Amino acid sequence: MADLIIMNKTATEEDVKRVVEKIEKLGFKAHVSKGEERIIIGIIGDTRELSEETFRLLPGVSEVISILKEYKLASREFHKEDTIINVNGVKIGEGYFVVMAGPCSVESKEQLLMTGKFVKKCGAKILRGSIFKPRTSPYSFLGLGKEGLNILKEIKEELKMPIITEVLSPEEVDIVSQVSDILQIGTRNMFNYRLLQKVGEIDKPILLKRNFSAKISEFLNCAEYILKEGNNKVILCERGIRTFDSEFTRNTLDLNAVPILKKETHLPVIVDPSHGTGRRDLIIPMSKAAVAVGADGLLIEVHPKPEEALSDGFQSINFDMFENLMKELEPFIKVMKKKI
Ligand code: PEP
Ligand code: MN
Repeated sequence: MADLIIMNKTATEEDVKRVVEKIEKLGFKAHVSKGEERIIIGIIGDTRELSEETFRLLPGVSEVISILKEYKLASREFHKEDTIINVNGVKIGEGYFVVMAGPCSVESKEQLLMTGKFVKKCGAKILRGSIFKPRTSPYSFLGLGKEGLNILKEIKEELKMPIITEVLSPEEVDIVSQVSDILQIGTRNMFNYRLLQKVGEIDKPILLKRNFSAKISEFLNCAEYILKEGNNKVILCERGIRTFDSEFTRNTLDLNAVPILKKETHLPVIVDPSHGTGRRDLIIPMSKAAVAVGADGLLIEVHPKPEEALSDGFQSINFDMFENLMKELEPFIKVMKKKI
């Protein structure tokens, strides 16, 4: 098996070209990353039958490495440095801490504007708000739909704040990506392979939420679907899983997943305590815990009047609580040596 080719420091352009051509001739794709020190060429495809010897003796080749993990491009072995994603100047990834906040659903322009202004003032860098809502009951509010796109566009321009919104189907990817700075794939769609492939073809960051019954390896394999198509801007989001106990919480926020993911992959990992707990009184403590286990950010549901929200009001926090949350997080973020 051959997955990564490390070139010598002295390797020439010609040497690199030769290796790439050989990879392509064998029916694989080549991924060339030029680091400060050396050039690494990744082989993309099913490499199980590919011998290391195929490349070892080519001029300029220093080492041929095989990666045993199924999720190759997502693995730390493939990419040692942390991936930092730049969203209109907002950096997401190791060393930074980003808060994405806003309502579960966009209900009106006023609601989004009011919320956006407030969360921005408190230090949130990205505004969330969904217009396509995947609800458990088809009779619940399913979002404003395409009409909501104009609201997102107007508010993002007015507030000069990047936005994140959910995309439900491959057909919507193009229109949503014209407006949204980050596309969210929700828990129910984590296994929607056609959607994963489609968002893999665009050049926009994707926030992939863990399916509520997915193993960590399944989560990483789904990220791999996106990466394989060429989009390397994937942000992972732990948002709670189903366990035997749903008496007190909506889900069990699996904070074990955070340090595991940070070890296994180079991708940014953020935590959503809103869906992870389903309780607004748990948002502050679980957010602090998320910072402490090494998360690169948070996704928080905030609503001007949570008791009147059209979705997820019971877990949304109001403005006062959001202000407190941001204040209380500060020392934790400092201890973790992250930049806000
Ligand atoms: C949401 O972020 O509002 C949402 C629907 O999240 P999830 O897919 O994690 O349930
Ligand atoms: Mn929600």
